[in-house]
Amino acid sequence: MALIKNYKIATIGSHSALQILKGAQDEGFSTIAICLKGRERPYKLFNVADEIVTIKDYNELFKVQDKLIKKKAIFIPHASLIAYLGVEKVEGFRVPYFGNKNILRFESDRRIERKWLKNAGLKLPRIFEDPKDIDRAVIVKFHGAKGGKGYFLAKNERDFKQKIKSHPKGEDYVIQEYIVGVPMFIHYFYSPLNNELEIMGFDIRYESNVDSLGRVSARDQMALPKIDPSYVIVGNIPVVIRESFLPRIIDMGERVIKESRKITKNGLWGPFCLEAILTPNEEIRVFEISARIVAGTNPYVEGSPYTALKYNEPMSTGRRIAREIKIAIKKGKLGKVLG
Ligand code: AMP
Ligand code: AMP
Repeated sequence: MALIKNYKIATIGSHSALQILKGAQDEGFSTIAICLKGRERPYKLFNVADEIVTIKDYNELFKVQDKLIKKKAIFIPHASLIAYLGVEKVEGFRVPYFGNKNILRFESDRRIERKWLKNAGLKLPRIFEDPKDIDRAVIVKFHGAKGGKGYFLAKNERDFKQKIKSHPKGEDYVIQEYIVGVPMFIHYFYSPLNNELEIMGFDIRYESNVDSLGRVSARDQMALPKIDPSYVIVGNIPVVIRESFLPRIIDMGERVIKESRKITKNGLWGPFCLEAILTPNEEIRVFEISARIVAGTNPYVEGSPYTALKYNEPMSTGRRIAREIKIAIKKGKLGKVLG
Protein backbone atom coordinates (compact mmCIF):
# COMPACT_ATOMS: atom_id res chain seq x y z
CA MET A 1 0.00 0.00 0.00
CA ALA A 2 2.86 2.34 0.85
CA LEU A 3 3.93 2.24 -2.76
CA ILE A 4 0.52 3.33 -3.98
CA LYS A 5 0.60 6.32 -1.69
CA ASN A 6 3.57 7.60 -3.72
CA TYR A 7 1.35 8.09 -6.74
CA LYS A 8 -1.50 10.45 -7.42
CA ILE A 9 -4.33 10.15 -9.90
CA ALA A 10 -5.05 13.34 -11.87
CA THR A 11 -7.66 14.28 -14.41
CA ILE A 12 -9.37 17.31 -15.89
CA GLY A 13 -12.37 18.51 -13.91
CA SER A 14 -15.19 17.74 -16.38
CA HIS A 15 -16.87 14.82 -18.22
CA SER A 16 -16.28 11.78 -15.93
CA ALA A 17 -13.88 13.29 -13.40
CA LEU A 18 -16.16 12.80 -10.37
CA GLN A 19 -16.26 9.08 -11.02
CA ILE A 20 -12.54 8.79 -11.90
CA LEU A 21 -11.41 10.65 -8.78
CA LYS A 22 -13.83 8.88 -6.44
CA GLY A 23 -12.74 5.52 -7.88
CA ALA A 24 -9.08 6.45 -7.36
CA GLN A 25 -9.73 7.41 -3.73
CA ASP A 26 -11.57 4.13 -3.17
CA GLU A 27 -8.44 2.34 -4.36
CA GLY A 28 -6.26 4.29 -1.93
CA PHE A 29 -4.79 6.96 -4.22
CA SER A 30 -4.79 10.65 -3.48
CA THR A 31 -6.28 12.70 -6.28
CA ILE A 32 -5.79 15.90 -8.25
CA ALA A 33 -8.51 17.67 -10.21
CA ILE A 34 -7.20 20.08 -12.83
CA CYS A 35 -9.97 22.63 -13.24
CA LEU A 36 -10.67 25.61 -15.40
CA LYS A 37 -11.09 28.66 -13.21
CA GLY A 38 -14.70 28.69 -12.05
CA ARG A 39 -15.26 24.95 -12.54
CA GLU A 40 -13.83 23.78 -9.19
CA ARG A 41 -17.02 23.60 -7.20
CA PRO A 42 -18.31 20.09 -7.99
CA TYR A 43 -14.95 18.59 -7.05
CA LYS A 44 -14.94 20.45 -3.74
CA LEU A 45 -18.60 19.82 -3.02
CA PHE A 46 -18.35 16.06 -3.56
CA ASN A 47 -14.98 15.87 -1.87
CA VAL A 48 -13.34 13.75 -4.57
CA ALA A 49 -10.24 15.90 -5.08
CA ASP A 50 -7.48 15.90 -2.48
CA GLU A 51 -5.98 18.77 -4.43
CA ILE A 52 -7.25 21.18 -7.06
CA VAL A 53 -4.97 22.75 -9.65
CA THR A 54 -6.66 25.70 -11.33
CA ILE A 55 -5.80 26.72 -14.89
CA LYS A 56 -7.08 29.65 -16.96
CA ASP A 57 -7.42 27.68 -20.20
CA TYR A 58 -6.64 24.16 -21.32
CA ASN A 59 -3.34 25.19 -22.91
CA GLU A 60 -2.12 25.97 -19.40
CA LEU A 61 -2.02 22.22 -18.83
CA PHE A 62 1.44 22.36 -20.37
CA LYS A 63 2.55 24.92 -17.82
CA VAL A 64 1.55 22.69 -14.91
CA GLN A 65 2.91 19.45 -16.34
CA ASP A 66 6.28 19.63 -14.55
CA LYS A 67 4.45 20.21 -11.29
CA LEU A 68 2.26 17.15 -11.98
CA ILE A 69 5.26 15.00 -12.90
CA LYS A 70 6.98 16.00 -9.67
CA LYS A 71 3.92 14.96 -7.70
CA LYS A 72 4.04 11.55 -9.42
CA ALA A 73 0.69 12.11 -10.99
CA ILE A 74 -0.78 9.55 -13.37
CA PHE A 75 -3.13 11.28 -15.78
CA ILE A 76 -6.45 9.72 -16.77
CA PRO A 77 -7.63 11.02 -20.16
CA HIS A 78 -11.27 11.59 -21.04
CA ALA A 79 -13.17 13.32 -23.83
CA SER A 80 -12.67 16.86 -22.53
CA LEU A 81 -8.91 16.57 -22.94
CA ILE A 82 -9.20 15.55 -26.57
CA ALA A 83 -12.11 17.89 -27.35
CA TYR A 84 -10.31 20.97 -26.03
CA LEU A 85 -6.66 20.25 -26.83
CA GLY A 86 -6.77 18.04 -29.93
CA VAL A 87 -4.80 14.87 -30.60
CA GLU A 88 -1.50 16.56 -31.49
CA LYS A 89 -1.20 18.50 -28.26
CA VAL A 90 -2.23 15.49 -26.19
CA GLU A 91 0.55 13.50 -27.86
CA GLY A 92 3.02 16.10 -26.62
CA PHE A 93 1.76 15.99 -23.04
CA ARG A 94 4.52 14.51 -20.86
CA VAL A 95 2.67 13.50 -17.69
CA PRO A 96 2.42 9.66 -17.36
CA TYR A 97 -0.80 8.79 -19.12
CA PHE A 98 -3.15 5.82 -18.61
CA GLY A 99 -3.85 4.13 -21.94
CA ASN A 100 -2.20 4.01 -25.34
CA LYS A 101 -1.75 7.51 -26.75
CA ASN A 102 -1.10 6.14 -30.24
CA ILE A 103 -4.65 4.93 -30.44
CA LEU A 104 -5.99 8.51 -30.30
CA ARG A 105 -4.81 9.18 -33.82
CA PHE A 106 -6.63 6.13 -35.12
CA GLU A 107 -9.77 6.99 -33.25
CA SER A 108 -9.83 10.49 -34.67
CA ASP A 109 -8.91 9.53 -38.25
CA ARG A 110 -12.18 8.31 -39.71
CA ARG A 111 -10.58 6.24 -42.47
CA ILE A 112 -8.29 4.30 -40.16
CA GLU A 113 -11.02 3.93 -37.57
CA ARG A 114 -13.34 2.49 -40.21
CA LYS A 115 -10.75 0.04 -41.45
CA TRP A 116 -10.02 -1.04 -37.89
CA LEU A 117 -13.68 -1.69 -37.07
CA LYS A 118 -14.37 -3.33 -40.43
CA ASN A 119 -11.43 -5.68 -40.04
CA ALA A 120 -12.80 -6.54 -36.60
CA GLY A 121 -15.89 -7.80 -38.43
CA LEU A 122 -18.26 -5.11 -37.16
CA LYS A 123 -21.23 -3.96 -39.22
CA LEU A 124 -20.84 -0.26 -39.95
CA PRO A 125 -23.21 2.27 -41.54
CA ARG A 126 -22.44 2.95 -45.17
CA ILE A 127 -20.46 6.12 -45.95
CA PHE A 128 -21.36 8.20 -49.01
CA GLU A 129 -18.27 9.87 -50.47
CA ASP A 130 -20.32 11.61 -53.15
CA PRO A 131 -23.69 13.27 -52.35
CA LYS A 132 -24.90 12.09 -55.78
CA ASP A 133 -24.98 8.54 -54.42
CA ILE A 134 -27.34 9.30 -51.53
CA ASP A 135 -30.16 6.77 -51.99
CA ARG A 136 -31.50 6.51 -48.43
CA ALA A 137 -31.72 8.51 -45.21
CA VAL A 138 -28.31 9.89 -44.21
CA ILE A 139 -26.95 11.79 -41.24
CA VAL A 140 -24.39 14.48 -42.03
CA LYS A 141 -21.88 14.91 -39.22
CA PHE A 142 -19.41 17.75 -38.86
CA HIS A 143 -16.04 16.83 -37.56
CA GLY A 144 -15.36 19.80 -35.35
CA ALA A 145 -18.95 19.75 -34.04
CA LYS A 146 -19.01 19.85 -30.28
CA GLY A 147 -21.52 17.23 -29.28
CA GLY A 148 -23.62 16.87 -32.42
CA LYS A 149 -24.66 20.47 -32.98
CA GLY A 150 -25.42 21.21 -36.62
CA TYR A 151 -25.74 17.57 -37.69
CA PHE A 152 -28.56 17.16 -40.17
CA LEU A 153 -30.56 14.44 -41.91
CA ALA A 154 -31.02 14.30 -45.67
CA LYS A 155 -32.84 11.97 -48.03
CA ASN A 156 -31.20 12.70 -51.40
CA GLU A 157 -28.62 14.89 -53.15
CA ARG A 158 -31.02 17.82 -53.55
CA ASP A 159 -32.01 17.79 -49.93
CA PHE A 160 -28.34 17.54 -48.92
CA LYS A 161 -27.31 20.49 -51.13
CA GLN A 162 -30.08 22.61 -49.71
CA LYS A 163 -29.16 21.87 -46.09
CA ILE A 164 -25.37 22.11 -46.45
CA LYS A 165 -25.80 25.72 -47.62
CA SER A 166 -26.13 27.01 -44.07
CA HIS A 167 -22.70 25.60 -43.17
CA PRO A 168 -19.45 27.43 -43.88
CA LYS A 169 -17.57 26.15 -46.97
CA GLY A 170 -14.65 23.87 -46.23
CA GLU A 171 -16.11 22.50 -43.01
CA ASP A 172 -15.14 18.83 -42.65
CA TYR A 173 -18.08 16.41 -42.63
CA VAL A 174 -19.05 12.82 -43.26
CA ILE A 175 -22.24 11.56 -44.91
CA GLN A 176 -23.30 8.43 -43.10
CA GLU A 177 -26.24 6.12 -43.66
CA TYR A 178 -28.87 6.92 -41.03
CA ILE A 179 -29.73 3.75 -39.15
CA VAL A 180 -33.18 3.55 -37.67
CA GLY A 181 -33.10 1.72 -34.36
CA VAL A 182 -32.12 2.22 -30.75
CA PRO A 183 -28.74 3.87 -30.16
CA MET A 184 -26.94 2.11 -27.35
CA PHE A 185 -23.45 2.60 -25.98
CA ILE A 186 -21.43 -0.43 -24.94
CA HIS A 187 -18.83 0.11 -22.19
CA TYR A 188 -15.88 -2.27 -22.14
CA PHE A 189 -12.65 -2.55 -20.18
CA TYR A 190 -9.67 -4.52 -21.40
CA SER A 191 -6.87 -5.39 -19.00
CA PRO A 192 -3.41 -5.83 -20.50
CA LEU A 193 -2.31 -7.35 -17.17
CA ASN A 194 -4.60 -10.38 -17.30
CA ASN A 195 -5.61 -10.15 -20.99
CA GLU A 196 -9.28 -10.12 -20.11
CA LEU A 197 -12.18 -8.21 -21.57
CA GLU A 198 -14.92 -6.99 -19.22
CA ILE A 199 -18.37 -5.62 -19.94
CA MET A 200 -18.78 -2.62 -17.65
CA GLY A 201 -22.27 -1.58 -18.72
CA PHE A 202 -24.45 0.15 -21.28
CA ASP A 203 -26.07 3.54 -21.56
CA ILE A 204 -28.46 5.46 -23.72
CA ARG A 205 -27.57 9.05 -24.39
CA TYR A 206 -30.07 11.76 -23.87
CA GLU A 207 -29.62 14.28 -26.64
CA SER A 208 -31.18 17.68 -27.17
CA ASN A 209 -33.37 18.26 -29.00
CA VAL A 210 -33.73 14.95 -30.83
CA ASP A 211 -34.89 13.06 -27.74
CA SER A 212 -37.67 15.53 -27.05
CA LEU A 213 -39.03 15.87 -30.58
CA GLY A 214 -41.44 13.04 -29.81
CA ARG A 215 -43.11 15.36 -27.29
CA VAL A 216 -44.19 17.63 -30.11
CA SER A 217 -46.83 15.91 -32.21
CA ALA A 218 -46.19 15.57 -35.95
CA ARG A 219 -49.10 17.97 -36.53
CA ASP A 220 -47.52 20.62 -34.33
CA GLN A 221 -44.10 20.05 -35.84
CA MET A 222 -45.60 20.81 -39.24
CA ALA A 223 -47.39 23.89 -37.94
CA LEU A 224 -44.51 25.36 -35.93
CA PRO A 225 -41.52 27.20 -37.38
CA LYS A 226 -38.98 24.68 -38.72
CA ILE A 227 -37.53 22.40 -36.01
CA ASP A 228 -34.31 20.64 -37.01
CA PRO A 229 -33.07 17.77 -34.88
CA SER A 230 -29.77 18.24 -33.05
CA TYR A 231 -27.74 15.73 -31.09
CA VAL A 232 -26.25 17.73 -28.24
CA ILE A 233 -25.59 15.44 -25.29
CA VAL A 234 -27.22 16.51 -22.04
CA GLY A 235 -27.24 13.30 -20.00
CA ASN A 236 -27.02 9.53 -19.92
CA ILE A 237 -29.57 6.89 -19.01
CA PRO A 238 -28.55 3.47 -17.65
CA VAL A 239 -29.85 0.44 -19.48
CA VAL A 240 -29.41 -3.32 -19.50
CA ILE A 241 -29.29 -5.07 -22.82
CA ARG A 242 -31.38 -8.06 -23.90
CA GLU A 243 -29.30 -10.94 -22.60
CA SER A 244 -29.16 -12.88 -25.86
CA PHE A 245 -27.21 -9.99 -27.43
CA LEU A 246 -24.34 -10.52 -24.98
CA PRO A 247 -22.41 -13.29 -26.78
CA ARG A 248 -22.10 -11.05 -29.85
CA ILE A 249 -21.23 -8.02 -27.73
CA ILE A 250 -18.37 -9.89 -26.03
CA ASP A 251 -17.13 -11.18 -29.35
CA MET A 252 -17.18 -7.71 -30.88
CA GLY A 253 -15.09 -6.26 -28.02
CA GLU A 254 -12.51 -9.02 -28.28
CA ARG A 255 -12.14 -8.61 -32.02
CA VAL A 256 -11.72 -4.83 -31.67
CA ILE A 257 -8.85 -5.40 -29.21
CA LYS A 258 -7.23 -8.03 -31.45
CA GLU A 259 -7.39 -5.76 -34.51
CA SER A 260 -6.06 -2.76 -32.57
CA ARG A 261 -2.76 -4.61 -32.12
CA LYS A 262 -2.37 -4.73 -35.88
CA ILE A 263 -2.59 -0.95 -36.21
CA THR A 264 -0.35 0.07 -33.33
CA LYS A 265 2.08 -1.54 -30.92
CA ASN A 266 0.27 -3.12 -27.94
CA GLY A 267 -3.07 -1.88 -29.31
CA LEU A 268 -5.92 -0.63 -27.18
CA TRP A 269 -6.27 -1.19 -23.44
CA GLY A 270 -8.31 0.24 -20.59
CA PRO A 271 -11.88 1.46 -21.03
CA PHE A 272 -13.45 1.86 -24.45
CA CYS A 273 -16.92 2.15 -25.93
CA LEU A 274 -18.64 0.96 -29.07
CA GLU A 275 -21.42 3.28 -30.10
CA ALA A 276 -24.07 1.18 -31.74
CA ILE A 277 -27.58 1.19 -33.11
CA LEU A 278 -29.67 -1.92 -32.51
CA THR A 279 -32.05 -2.47 -35.38
CA PRO A 280 -35.41 -4.28 -35.54
CA ASN A 281 -33.57 -7.07 -37.42
CA GLU A 282 -31.48 -7.56 -34.27
CA GLU A 283 -28.43 -6.21 -36.03
CA ILE A 284 -25.79 -4.33 -34.04
CA ARG A 285 -24.50 -1.54 -36.28
CA VAL A 286 -21.51 0.34 -34.87
CA PHE A 287 -21.07 3.98 -35.91
CA GLU A 288 -18.18 5.02 -33.67
CA ILE A 289 -15.56 3.89 -31.17
CA SER A 290 -14.30 5.87 -28.19
CA ALA A 291 -10.94 4.55 -27.09
CA ARG A 292 -11.18 5.85 -23.52
CA ILE A 293 -13.67 6.24 -20.68
CA VAL A 294 -17.05 7.54 -21.85
CA ALA A 295 -19.35 9.67 -19.72
CA GLY A 296 -22.08 7.09 -20.26
CA THR A 297 -20.39 5.17 -17.41
CA ASN A 298 -21.28 8.01 -15.01
CA PRO A 299 -24.60 6.54 -13.86
CA TYR A 300 -22.59 3.62 -12.48
CA VAL A 301 -20.51 5.27 -9.73
CA GLU A 302 -21.72 2.41 -7.53
CA GLY A 303 -21.17 -0.14 -10.29
CA SER A 304 -23.53 -1.47 -12.96
CA PRO A 305 -25.63 -4.65 -13.00
CA TYR A 306 -22.75 -6.24 -14.95
CA THR A 307 -19.95 -5.21 -12.59
CA ALA A 308 -22.15 -6.42 -9.72
CA LEU A 309 -22.03 -9.88 -11.28
CA LYS A 310 -18.25 -9.87 -11.47
CA TYR A 311 -17.19 -7.95 -8.37
CA ASN A 312 -18.41 -8.21 -4.81
CA GLU A 313 -17.95 -4.48 -4.34
CA PRO A 314 -19.03 -1.32 -6.18
CA MET A 315 -16.89 -1.08 -9.32
CA SER A 316 -17.25 1.95 -11.53
CA THR A 317 -15.15 2.29 -14.67
CA GLY A 318 -13.20 5.04 -12.86
CA ARG A 319 -12.45 2.67 -10.01
CA ARG A 320 -11.57 -0.13 -12.45
CA ILE A 321 -8.93 2.15 -14.01
CA ALA A 322 -7.44 2.89 -10.58
CA ARG A 323 -7.56 -0.83 -9.73
CA GLU A 324 -5.60 -1.62 -12.90
CA ILE A 325 -2.98 1.00 -12.02
CA LYS A 326 -2.78 -0.33 -8.46
CA ILE A 327 -2.25 -3.93 -9.61
CA ALA A 328 0.35 -2.75 -12.13
CA ILE A 329 2.26 -0.85 -9.42
CA LYS A 330 2.17 -3.87 -7.10
CA LYS A 331 3.43 -6.17 -9.85
CA GLY A 332 6.10 -3.70 -10.98
CA LYS A 333 4.36 -3.47 -14.38
CA LEU A 334 3.26 0.15 -14.45
CA GLY A 335 4.88 0.55 -17.88
CA LYS A 336 2.33 -1.89 -19.26
CA VAL A 337 -0.63 0.36 -18.53
CA LEU A 338 0.93 3.75 -19.30
CA GLY A 339 1.39 4.84 -22.90
P1 AMP B 1 -17.40 18.81 -21.67
O1 AMP B 1 -16.14 18.89 -20.86
O2 AMP B 1 -18.66 18.56 -20.87
O3 AMP B 1 -17.56 20.02 -22.59
O4 AMP B 1 -17.28 17.51 -22.60
C1 AMP B 1 -16.22 17.28 -23.48
C2 AMP B 1 -16.66 16.39 -24.62
O5 AMP B 1 -17.21 15.16 -24.11
C3 AMP B 1 -17.76 17.02 -25.47
O6 AMP B 1 -17.37 16.86 -26.82
C4 AMP B 1 -19.02 16.24 -25.16
O7 AMP B 1 -19.78 16.02 -26.33
C5 AMP B 1 -18.53 14.94 -24.59
N1 AMP B 1 -19.39 14.59 -23.44
C6 AMP B 1 -19.49 15.30 -22.29
N2 AMP B 1 -20.37 14.76 -21.45
C7 AMP B 1 -20.86 13.67 -22.09
C8 AMP B 1 -21.82 12.68 -21.74
N3 AMP B 1 -22.47 12.74 -20.57
N4 AMP B 1 -22.05 11.67 -22.61
C9 AMP B 1 -21.42 11.63 -23.78
N5 AMP B 1 -20.50 12.55 -24.18
C10 AMP B 1 -20.22 13.54 -23.35
P1 AMP C 1 -21.77 11.06 -32.83
O1 AMP C 1 -21.36 12.51 -32.83
O2 AMP C 1 -21.20 10.27 -33.97
O3 AMP C 1 -21.52 10.41 -31.48
O4 AMP C 1 -23.36 11.04 -33.02
C1 AMP C 1 -24.24 11.76 -32.19
C2 AMP C 1 -25.62 11.11 -32.19
O5 AMP C 1 -26.17 11.06 -33.51
C3 AMP C 1 -25.63 9.67 -31.72
O6 AMP C 1 -25.67 9.55 -30.32
C4 AMP C 1 -26.90 9.13 -32.37
O7 AMP C 1 -28.05 9.55 -31.67
C5 AMP C 1 -26.92 9.86 -33.70
N1 AMP C 1 -26.27 9.09 -34.78
C6 AMP C 1 -24.97 9.12 -35.12
N2 AMP C 1 -24.72 8.33 -36.18
C7 AMP C 1 -25.89 7.78 -36.52
C8 AMP C 1 -26.29 6.89 -37.57
N3 AMP C 1 -25.42 6.43 -38.47
N4 AMP C 1 -27.59 6.54 -37.64
C9 AMP C 1 -28.49 7.04 -36.75
N5 AMP C 1 -28.18 7.88 -35.75
C10 AMP C 1 -26.90 8.27 -35.64
